[in-house]
This record gives sequence, C-alpha cells and structure tokens, in this order.
Amino acid sequence: MDRDLSDEDSVVDLSFEAESPLAPPAELLERLPSCDWFLQGDRHQIFFPPLEAPGRPQDQRCWSWFLEHRVPVVTEEVAREALLSFVNSKCCYGSAAAGDLVIRELKQQALCRYRLETFSESRISEWTFQPFTNHSVDGPQRGTSPRLWDIKVQVPPMFQEDTRKFQVPHSSLVKECHKCHGRGRYKCSGCHGAGTVRCPSCSGAKRKAKPARRCQMCSGSGRRRCSTCSGRGNKTCATCKGEKKLLHFIQLVIAWKNNLFEFVSEHQLDCPGELLAKARGEILFKDENTMVYPIVDFPLRDISLASQRGIAEHSAALASRARVLQQRQTIELVPLTEVRYWYQGKTYVYYIYGTDHRVYVVDYPEKYCCGCTIL
Ligand SMILES: [Zn+2]
Ligand SMILES: [Zn+2]
Ligand SMILES: [Zn+2]
Repeated sequence: MDRDLSDEDSVVDLSFEAESPLAPPAELLERLPSCDWFLQGDRHQIFFPPLEAPGRPQDQRCWSWFLEHRVPVVTEEVAREALLSFVNSKCCYGSAAAGDLVIRELKQQALCRYRLETFSESRISEWTFQPFTNHSVDGPQRGTSPRLWDIKVQVPPMFQEDTRKFQVPHSSLVKECHKCHGRGRYKCSGCHGAGTVRCPSCSGAKRKAKPARRCQMCSGSGRRRCSTCSGRGNKTCATCKGEKKLLHFIQLVIAWKNNLFEFVSEHQLDCPGELLAKARGEILFKDENTMVYPIVDFPLRDISLASQRGIAEHSAALASRARVLQQRQTIELVPLTEVRYWYQGKTYVYYIYGTDHRVYVVDYPEKYCCGCTIL
C-alpha cells in the first residue's frame, strides 16, 4: 500500500498550508542533512504543541496548532555531552574515547508515541467472615441488600490503581465457628492435647547412652513442654479468634485499574523499541474525558490508526467486566538521533533518545570490566 502521507486520503485538513510557514529555517536543514520529519518529500513539517487540547469529539481537530513545532536540535556538542555523561555514569566505560571521538554523522528523527489510558472499575462480590464480637448485626431483617453497582463508594483519584473491600449492607448473619465448632479453642496438633511432647534429645528414653547419664534436656522425665501450645494442650481458634461465633457477610471487592495501550510510530533507526516506549517525550496533544473518541485526522496515519485500534481494544476487553470511568489519550513527540563517529580508525554508533537525551550505546571502543578490557 502506498503510505505516502501526501495522499489525499491520509491528510484531511491541509487548509493550514497557505497560512503557515511550514519549512524549518534553512540552517536547521543544513545541520540535519538527513532529517526525516513526519511528512516526507519536500515538505518538512513538525507539529506544534497546542495551547489547549481540542476537546470536541469527532469534530475536525485543528492540527495546525501542531505545526511549526521544532524538535530541539541535537548538535555535535550536545551529542558528545550526552555520551560523556552516559559513560561517566558507567564504571566499565572509559571516557577518553567519548572526549576524542570524531562525529561523522547525526541522523535525527522525531517519532510519535500514542498512548491510551483507560481507567476502569470492576466489582465482584463474595462471601466472607470475621470473628463475631457482639456488635449489632446488619442482617436481611433491616432491608434488602443493594445491587452490586448501586453501592456508592468514594472513587480514588483518576488513573490511580487501587483495590478496596466493602461490607454489603444487610447481608450479615452470625453462625457458630465451623473450625472449633463453637468452642473457641481446639486441641493442639503438636502434642494432641497432652501439653508435652517426647523429649527430642533422648527420644523419650530419659537417659543418654554416651556418656551414660540422665538426660539433662528433660531432667530424666523423657518429655518436654509442647512449644506449639506452650504446654496448655489446646490453642485459641485462629478462625474465630476464640470468639466461638463468626459473622458472615457479602463482601464487595472493587478494583480500579489503569489499562494502557501504547504505540510508537515506525522509524528507520536501529534503536530498541522498548527504550522508545519508556523514553521521555514532549506532549503534543492530550485529550481526557469520561470517554475519548478515536483520532481520525492526525497527519501521521499510523497514529490515527493506533488511536482507533487502542480504543476498540479497550472497549472490547472491558465491555463485559468493568465500567470505564475515564480515558486519556496523548500524542507525544520522542526525538531520536543516531550518532556515527570515528575513533582510532573505526566507526561506532550510539543513539540519543528522549527529551532528556538518554543514550543507548551499540558498541563502544573503551569498555572494561573489573580492570580487564573486553574486546
Ligand atoms: Zn501442644
Ligand atoms: Zn530427654
Ligand atoms: Zn473457632
């Protein structure tokens, strides 16, 4: 398929062309002979961050706000600084090469990253119990329990995951403890109720063979106090905490979850995708609402398709089991620069990614480990 973005079906609104100076300044292009912006061909365009996110669903968004935005240019000086600070943060890398290298080529690209976050709430109910401590019982005699989704609770701040449990009104009833049969205590399993166990030192023989003398551990009794029950022979029931009765009730478990869909636009440079997914970007567009609409007219078609795919995936995954409370979609610009350099007659490559100039080193001439050079 022809993916040239100048195709009429991929760019909906081109009305801004007449009014906006689209080409970056000439000196920018000179310094970046291989720059590869979103829109290819002879129109080098970059997007401009909006003053406020357009919020009208389905309306044609005015992407002209996004134009003219320039990626901060990575100069040789910036590239060298980024590598030096990376090298200095690693004990196994020598800094001489980073200082002496000769930069041959800087290839800069601006990638787009689309993210969709869907904050949802799911509810389940289950029977549970706790020791009954004689407080009043909120049972069915006080009314009918509300339905699962009719119970009103405090929602945590949006996009903050949490799980909380609530007691469903009018669902309580009191029963004898099934573990101790209402006794509050049960026989110790360590000593079977005796309170003592066979002496582990003389195995109950009361005497030691070598040297032949009375066992000192048990003072010749052959038995020792049971450590499990401290000699009592029985233990407090852990289920009812000795209360003999249990309060059974329906528990509502609410889970607030943030589902993430992420897409990074394609690029030709050989930098691992997982780094770009985590890289710090600059927000070009942000749209947050109880439900967001797919972006259909972003000039980079892959991003519009990702938005449509992400929203469809989330609604399909959540439809039957959760309620969507809030959605947020963002488009971020993630700068990526490939740096080729010479050092002692060989060519090496590293990448600078993200607005904070993180470095990914493919190979590096000066790498040591515990003092020994890895070649
Ligand atoms: Zn015991
Ligand atoms: Zn003994
Ligand atoms: Zn019990």
